[in-house]
Amino acid sequence: MNAEIIAIGSELLTPDRVDTNSLWLTERLNAIGIDVRLKTIVGDDDLRLEEAVRDAIRRTDLLIATGGLGPTEDDITRKIFARVLGRPLVLDDTVLEGIRDRFRQFGLTMTSNNERQALVPRDAEVLPNARGSAPGLLIQHERTLIVLFPGPPREMMPMFSEQIEARLEKLSHGERIRKRVMRSTGIGESALDQRIAPIYGQYSNPATTILSKPGEVEIHLTATSETAEMAEKLLDELAGRIEDELFPAIFSHRGESLEEIVGLGLTVKGYTLATAESCTGGLVAKRITDVPGSSAFFLEGHVTYSNASKTRMLGVPDSLIAEHGAVSAEVAEAMALGVKEVSGATIGVATTGIAGPGGGSEEKPVGLVYIAIADDVQAEAKPYTLFGSRSEIRERASQIALDLIRRRFLL
Ligand code: ATP
Ligand code: MG
Repeated sequence: MNAEIIAIGSELLTPDRVDTNSLWLTERLNAIGIDVRLKTIVGDDDLRLEEAVRDAIRRTDLLIATGGLGPTEDDITRKIFARVLGRPLVLDDTVLEGIRDRFRQFGLTMTSNNERQALVPRDAEVLPNARGSAPGLLIQHERTLIVLFPGPPREMMPMFSEQIEARLEKLSHGERIRKRVMRSTGIGESALDQRIAPIYGQYSNPATTILSKPGEVEIHLTATSETAEMAEKLLDELAGRIEDELFPAIFSHRGESLEEIVGLGLTVKGYTLATAESCTGGLVAKRITDVPGSSAFFLEGHVTYSNASKTRMLGVPDSLIAEHGAVSAEVAEAMALGVKEVSGATIGVATTGIAGPGGGSEEKPVGLVYIAIADDVQAEAKPYTLFGSRSEIRERASQIALDLIRRRFLL
């Protein structure tokens, strides 16, 4: 069963108000096996809404619209649906009484425009609204089931849960949708796709989507099946093949962040970590300490931005900085060894580089970052040429530093 959602209201087109109804509905529909294919946001505009409704009912099994059911002139949903479906609006006495009661209850007199809310397209089923005056409507039109909800989320959400969800679940023939998010780092989006497209191309179910952000590519799999277990089995098979192909780039199998995975690994191994950061300004330490329970493995983090601080806090020799410059493999390695030494941690990690936009030279361009990792056995530093804005370069550098820990100690 497939679905479309129309969110109605001019305010939803502006930055003032975000359409959250469709996101909430999509999650709930997916959970009962209904595939949301499209959503439209339409302002309070007769013609545009009419077109959107006409298009939607031509192609969808289920159409859910939210908003514009209220009593005011700009609430056009009822009128437009009646027009497109070719059904006259008839006054529903039960709804009218309900609205009257509500007003009475609050000691108010009903204004005549509230009567408009009791107008219902012929043969529509009224969905009572316990938390507001605008009732919802359910209309079967040819092969399309149409559900209209009032806009306020606190009214729409319980109406869906209490009156609609179970009915839709029956109609969707018990199909189940399950999703899985795998996250990878150290490989670009197009290189990754080139390697796994021949694999996921063999499957229409699960469906595969690839999303990238600085330093990371996510692979989203969505499986549909009769039961949750069968959907999970479909996911297991494709996910397993993708992981084998991309090993060791996939760090997360259920959407966990890189810092969570690193934290988990350090905890399991009983290792401790300390960081010395220049260009990342504490970002590595920040990400590590975002993980609850990080005090079990994270000992300390130093932001040594000046040359003097690298010497004073980490014991990096003056002469080393003078000879190679602060942005160099030698200094990165000395920082990692230094922080390991002063903290007593199992692992020391260091970053030093040029995040830009200024400060680059021909020899050491913006984006050149050295990242070092040290333990009792060895220390090594490598250069990376990163691109993007200052914040992207810092983000990518922190990602590499965390991934070095994962690849070196935790795989
Ligand atoms: P009412 O009788 O409350 O007016 P209505 O169906 O006419 O019901 P709207 O007037 O369209 O609803 O919207 C009322 C309020 O509900 C909006 O100001 C907004 O705060 C919220 N709202 C409407 N649509 C959405 C949406 N898609 N996502 C989130 N909030 C929404
Ligand atoms: Mg309204």
